[in-house]
Amino acid sequence: MRFFEVNPAEGPRFTGYINGVHRWGLPGGLCPVCHASPGGLGEAYPSVDLSGWAHRQELVEARQVPLEEYERLRDQVRSQVPFDAPLFPGAEFGPLTGKASGKWGAMHLPEPWTLVMQRDALECMRGAGIALRASKMDLRFLGRTEVELLEIEVHPRGRVHDSCFPGGRERPCERCGRQGGSFPDAPILDSRTLPKDQNLFRLTDYTTIIIATERFVDAVNRFEFEGVVFKEIPVL
Ligand SMILES: [Zn+2]
Repeated sequence: MRFFEVNPAEGPRFTGYINGVHRWGLPGGLCPVCHASPGGLGEAYPSVDLSGWAHRQELVEARQVPLEEYERLRDQVRSQVPFDAPLFPGAEFGPLTGKASGKWGAMHLPEPWTLVMQRDALECMRGAGIALRASKMDLRFLGRTEVELLEIEVHPRGRVHDSCFPGGRERPCERCGRQGGSFPDAPILDSRTLPKDQNLFRLTDYTTIIIATERFVDAVNRFEFEGVVFKEIPVL
């Protein structure tokens, strides 16, 4: 199986942008050892509805808290998440809410880490046997273009191979697990960590990076959907 990084298509037909946030989110947690926040920008679960949860008010405001406070909230919200998930600091839940503008592809990355699809494109992909978890969005469209967009939920799975860090990879922080280092120029995926049951996932160690399988890419190409482009990443 081959794997591909999903990137936004560029050009005047793909200007769609969302000024908004998911309704709830874990705070950033400041680590007392490495003095950073092991943040997971992009980790979002729009299907997780916290509207009936007693502690939801604690997850409304974006903020930085001591690591122990983040861990307390993370352990508390885990009971509301019906699947395995890392729940890094900053992980978000509930519908993406905000203002949308610009022109939209059939699939589209309004941010490099957020994937949305138009309804008919989603149905085609599902018809082709690609299982996708999609959630309604709470958008107000500015301007004349109004389309039905759904956010595709992309779970963290898989890691970059340690060998693509010349000089060795930074060791994870013993307290919070954060592993520094920017995304390698020539990334390679670690085959032992890749999911066998997902056609779309984001990397656990670089949560802004979305990866699609060859099967997903073939379906997109067959339907000639525009709005994203794919770059193959080798696997070791
Ligand atoms: Zn740390």
